[in-house]
Amino acid sequence: MPTSTVEDYLKSILRLDETADREVTVGGIAEDLGVTPGTVSSMMRHLSEAGLVDYVPRRSVTLRKKGRTEALRVVRRHRLVETFLVTVMKLDWSEVHEEAEVLEHVISDRLLERMDEMLGHPSHDPHGDPIPDPHGNVAAQELLHPLSEGAAGDRYRIVRVSDSDSGFLDWLRENRLLPGSVLDLVIHDPVAGIIEIRLSDDTSPLRLGEKAAARILVEPAEV
Ligand SMILES: [Zn+2]
Repeated sequence: MPTSTVEDYLKSILRLDETADREVTVGGIAEDLGVTPGTVSSMMRHLSEAGLVDYVPRRSVTLRKKGRTEALRVVRRHRLVETFLVTVMKLDWSEVHEEAEVLEHVISDRLLERMDEMLGHPSHDPHGDPIPDPHGNVAAQELLHPLSEGAAGDRYRIVRVSDSDSGFLDWLRENRLLPGSVLDLVIHDPVAGIIEIRLSDDTSPLRLGEKAAARILVEPAEV
């Protein structure tokens, strides 16, 4: 059983691999986890010896099959715990990430599968992130784009939002920007870095910066 630190590294590599177009590097992992590159390098040598990653020093890090399976197991635990805390325990969606960061490393498989049963085997967590099945399979992802890359005049449906910033999640809920919400992109001013949107069932426009919009993943919706 890998330690919680190893699990956090594997999860980080998986996340970077899914979100970035370029190869995963020691620098990228260091930034993601808030540690020094030297710390990451020695961990990569360790993970490489354990057969979890392929590590080419000063070049790239790739998850091996075993490492990927392990990372997806942690992601499954994280997202099921978040779903359970919101659906069953009625915690707010903005306050479950920190709890899940701890519980994902300690919860037993038996308890986790019981939670999955109680929830009716959900496919997505409250933030719209897909929940891998017990074998590490993830539902095929629609082609998602950050709202920050959207074009004025187009209509979008929110599919996923970044789960880790509770202030951001509070703001999203106050403005009813939830997975499933449909919005029209009214203005996109790349020079000022500002986006103006309007929910399809509302008349008042809402402004947000490109940085916040980058954390909202959308798919095109019929106008
Ligand atoms: Zn989370």
